[in-house]
Amino acid sequence: TETLVLDDVRFRYAPDAEPALDGVSVTIPRHGHTAIVGPSGAGKTTIFSLLLKFHRPEHGEIRLDGRPLDEWTLGDLRGRIAYVEQDTPLVPGTVAENLTYASPDAADDDLWRALAVVRMDERVRALPAGLQTEITGATLSGGERQRLALARALVADPELLLLDEVTAQLDGRTEAAVAEGIRRQAERGAVVTIAHRLSTVMDADQIVVLDGGRVRAVGTHDELLRTD
Ligand code: ADP
Ligand code: ADP
Repeated sequence: TETLVLDDVRFRYAPDAEPALDGVSVTIPRHGHTAIVGPSGAGKTTIFSLLLKFHRPEHGEIRLDGRPLDEWTLGDLRGRIAYVEQDTPLVPGTVAENLTYASPDAADDDLWRALAVVRMDERVRALPAGLQTEITGATLSGGERQRLALARALVADPELLLLDEVTAQLDGRTEAAVAEGIRRQAERGAVVTIAHRLSTVMDADQIVVLDGGRVRAVGTHDELLRTD
């Protein structure tokens, strides 16, 4: 069974605009890593904005767990979907409050595990009050904030994890650690990532190549290289 289905979805930002998505059909299995790849303007981020109900398709349907997205409230979705983009805002408060924002019952062990995945555990241990340190403008760098937002999404252990170009500004070692974290999360739920380049999502279970709002190809990295 699948978590998510986009069925012949069309969307335009304005009635007279070119479609940002045009006849897009994608099936996201319950487990595994699906990567959406394509040039700037391809429609990648628009897919996420429809999944988060920022916009509604003008044609076609999106189904989550077999039910049309129209039937889901935003509250229902918040419990199932975690979304991280570049420069995801943190909430005012401590490191722990940020990490447990979407999952108040998470244990400290879970927080440290998620911090380790994004290679932030030593950094947080070195803060004046550890997990209880207030995050101010000076506490963490931009990259560290980004990794904390990622850790928060991993703590939430969502059914559907949406990541929009989150590894673009990470150093190589951290990117590799995050890739491993994505792989592990993909055993627990569905992970959908957006990437500019095919080379950054070589180990995805399914790659959807998007261009001009249309799906141009679907397959594994090896399959796509063979048919290119
Ligand atoms: P990226 O290539 O990194 O996905 P985008 O082109 O999507 O960057 O631009 C980033 C932001 O600008 C997004 O919030 C997107 O919705 C908005 N945006 C992109 N194109 C337009 C446009 N033609 N008019 C208004 N907002 C736009
Ligand atoms: P990608 O994420 O692949 O870079 P987007 O989904 O951001 O592509 O954009 C797809 C198309 O929709 C582009 O032509 C872009 O300019 C347009 N677009 C994106 N966001 C907006 C927006 N908020 N208002 C108007 N047009 C937009």
